[in-house]
Amino acid sequence: MTPTNIVIAGGGSAGWMVAAAFAHFLPPNAYRIRLVESEAIGTIGVGEATIPQIQLFNQALGLDEDAFLRATGGTFKLGIEFAGWTRPGERYMHAFGDVGRESGLLGFHHRWLRARAERDGEIAALGDYSLNEVAARANRMQRGPARTAAMLPAMPYAFHFDAALYARLLRRFAEARGVERVEGRIVSVERSGETGDVAGLVLDGGARVEGTLFVDCTGFRALLIGEAMGASYDDWTRWLPCDRALAVPSARATDFTPYTRATAHGAGWQWRIPLQHRTGNGIVYSSAHLSDDAAAAQLLANLDGAAEGDPRPIRFTTGKRREMWRGNVVAVGLASGFMEPLESTSLHLVQTAIARLLKMLPGRATGQVQRDEYNRQADFEYERIRDFLILHYWANARDEPFWQERRAADLPDTLRHKIALWQEQAHVTREHEELFTEVAWIQVLIGQGVIPHGYHPIADAETRADNDEYLELMRQLIAREAAQMPRHDAFVAQHCAAR
Ligand code: FAD
Repeated sequence: MTPTNIVIAGGGSAGWMVAAAFAHFLPPNAYRIRLVESEAIGTIGVGEATIPQIQLFNQALGLDEDAFLRATGGTFKLGIEFAGWTRPGERYMHAFGDVGRESGLLGFHHRWLRARAERDGEIAALGDYSLNEVAARANRMQRGPARTAAMLPAMPYAFHFDAALYARLLRRFAEARGVERVEGRIVSVERSGETGDVAGLVLDGGARVEGTLFVDCTGFRALLIGEAMGASYDDWTRWLPCDRALAVPSARATDFTPYTRATAHGAGWQWRIPLQHRTGNGIVYSSAHLSDDAAAAQLLANLDGAAEGDPRPIRFTTGKRREMWRGNVVAVGLASGFMEPLESTSLHLVQTAIARLLKMLPGRATGQVQRDEYNRQADFEYERIRDFLILHYWANARDEPFWQERRAADLPDTLRHKIALWQEQAHVTREHEELFTEVAWIQVLIGQGVIPHGYHPIADAETRADNDEYLELMRQLIAREAAQMPRHDAFVAQHCAAR
């Protein structure tokens, strides 16, 4: 049997993640995998903060965690701090993992809301009941089960890493397993007159790369899915109006925090991602509200180390392809769509696209029903993440025109429903395959100051003293556990220092 030809167009993080996963999971005698990329064009070169699911991807490939961190200058990430999102000076964290502990039917936040109501708001912050947040704020890190109390969970964590080094690591992995890298600029895409499918890529110099299945990882250019196949783009600017970013690294931070920071400013926000060898920074903004020069000045004035180079401009339109799989082309990464990195979801979306594609891998011919199902699942995933991002903007009490507009903006029905349900009695619904958990929504809702009118009636079943005692015990256990953890920088130095 002749092997099926898979061609991956583009070698950014997305292209090499696809190549590594395909090389690992597909039988080598049945598939020939080639990746075409152009050094002259280069990659987007940002994408440094992740969510815990990235561990599953690395583990599936069999990558050793410490070796991966050493190779990518990586650090640990326990959550994201949102500074100034309600109003300047205020901050909260969306930390990974649990907040408190569920007991039976009762989510922990109901107990906390009861105590808050009884004490007129004079209660420890919700984050004091999250082991991840308390550890993150104290700059601490540990892996594995809790050391001081069996009832505390292990801390889930993600990574900050250098995306270019990650792509390089995956390239070595993929090439060692038979993926062929083809250097060259794609100058045109040939389609079959009969089916309309892509038949081959033509490179400068005239070489042709033919295939059966094409994975479009050409970034914002979307050469195959957009330009060649004409899949249209769903523009979400009305909900998420930021359309530009400037990225600049700065010298390694002395404050080596195990969390990403997202600081709101007058017309968007700024990220800070500490790596071992440098700090990644960038500003995301709405060009209708802030000029490029003012954005650059704002970014450079808020670095905590010297800038290493000039800020690099990036333009984008938030949204997604209406069809991420069309004909024999599947778009993965920026070619499939983009949402700003507020909750570090892009590399995760690459990962889920790979998993979905591997599960639904087409045979030599694939029917529309399979493509439709793939696209339906991808739409659902994108839309729910979009709703979560919109919430951060909508629930604000800032004065600037940008923020006032966000507060007044129309919401998608799905988000409006979620907020209404929360406001009534503190319920959060999560549908199957939705990325963000109830506890993620709860942290952002409360963090953004959306306090519900009620809570679950079972929270009133205990005496006030018992509820208070339970909360206090939880808070103390978490504080004690975090206090015995090593410092994050010492932990990195011991286990995974880049050489
Ligand atoms: P790219 O990196 O742009 O790669 C495109 C590839 O296609 C390159 O190899 C290029 O050479 C090739 N190519 C293009 N045209 C041609 C051609 N004609 N011929 C040959 N080759 C071609 N994600 C996160 O998970 N966390 C973050 O913190 C995060 N921050 C971000 C911040 C910003 C401002 C932006 C814009 C994105 C961020 N992302 C983040 C997203 C992340 O960067 C991308 O999802 C990820 O890097 C994948 O990019 P890509 O591989 O799809 O595209």
